[in-house]
Amino acid sequence: MSYFFLDGYESMETYNPGEQPHDRPYIKLNANESSYPPSPAILEALTSVQINSLAYYEDPYNIKLREAIGEIYGFPKEQIFVGNGADEVIAFIMMSFFREGFPIASNDITYDFYRTYAQTFHLKYRKIPVKADFSTDVDALVECGCDVIIANPNNPTGKAISCADVERIVKKNEKRLVIVDEAYVDFGGETALSLVDKYPNIIVVRTYSKSRNMAGARIGFCVANQDIIDDMRNVKFCVSPFNLNTLSQVIGIAAIKDTKYYDECIKEVIETRSYFESELLRMGFEIVPTVTNFCFFKASGIIPAELLTERLKEHGILVRYFGFEPRTKDYVRVTIGRRAEMEIVVRNMKAIIEEYQAEKVSNARRAAS
Ligand SMILES: *Cc1c(COP(=O)(O)O)cnc(C)c1O
Repeated sequence: MSYFFLDGYESMETYNPGEQPHDRPYIKLNANESSYPPSPAILEALTSVQINSLAYYEDPYNIKLREAIGEIYGFPKEQIFVGNGADEVIAFIMMSFFREGFPIASNDITYDFYRTYAQTFHLKYRKIPVKADFSTDVDALVECGCDVIIANPNNPTGKAISCADVERIVKKNEKRLVIVDEAYVDFGGETALSLVDKYPNIIVVRTYSKSRNMAGARIGFCVANQDIIDDMRNVKFCVSPFNLNTLSQVIGIAAIKDTKYYDECIKEVIETRSYFESELLRMGFEIVPTVTNFCFFKASGIIPAELLTERLKEHGILVRYFGFEPRTKDYVRVTIGRRAEMEIVVRNMKAIIEEYQAEKVSNARRAAS
């Protein structure tokens, strides 16, 4: 730590983005990225004219990309803000609207970035405990009386709440903002976009990282009423006016238009998810029903979750383990890749479990003799 680092940051617990090792090729199922390539339309969109345009600053109003997104979702560009990934969009929301002393509420088991952002911007963060089955305590959020940020569907649990439940939260807290992070909604959740024109206090956040197979392009956006969007743009103009690079804007436009391609990818992910869930059940695991591109299941009981995670890595498969929290330490989160990848995962899991059980038997024999 340098001499100059601010006091408040000394004890900061940073976000852990999940490992991205490069020591060997891995089947990467630890960050809910897509195993499918982005739309082929983006290659056509990337002409040498676009590449030469890198010499100039991009349009800080992001007009073309906002228009293209708006057209797909049925909103004018005035109601859309784009950022360098959903993460940056959420950071701008926090900078623009949340203040010291007023807590933000969220599920206690959720995307950890909300907590680290709150900490970075010196905001109080109130954790509302999820229920025993990991579902969101909607009543507690309705009654919380503070700003709310939820991932819906939630990460890492895969649980979702209905649009009607989101509406209850929004309606009861009309002087508070409700941020709905819909990073996974395309895989089976219910969107709250229909509430945007009904209530001035909801912001719906989306990303290209999961269902548009473009985590590396860093494109996220949010939809809200125009006043909110104007406020966020003004803050952006004070911090980082050219937040989204030229090439990402170009490919973001091409990608969002190719709904046919993405619908096909999403359909395949959902089919592969059913396959993987049924294999997990067959192996005897307890699964949390999911409407996302990942499965969250209880490994311990069959094999300790941390051990399964480690051994899968030895077999070239990366998954995510959340050992820091007592209620998730027995669980593993596995992103749904392509069918062929998931078949390899299933095969390796079976071998790892078999090996583990053999070890247990021989350890028991050794202990007995
Ligand atoms: C993955 C994820 C994001 C990240 O979005 P980016 O656009 O890649 O920044 C946001 N929210 C949730 C809940 C996520 O799981």
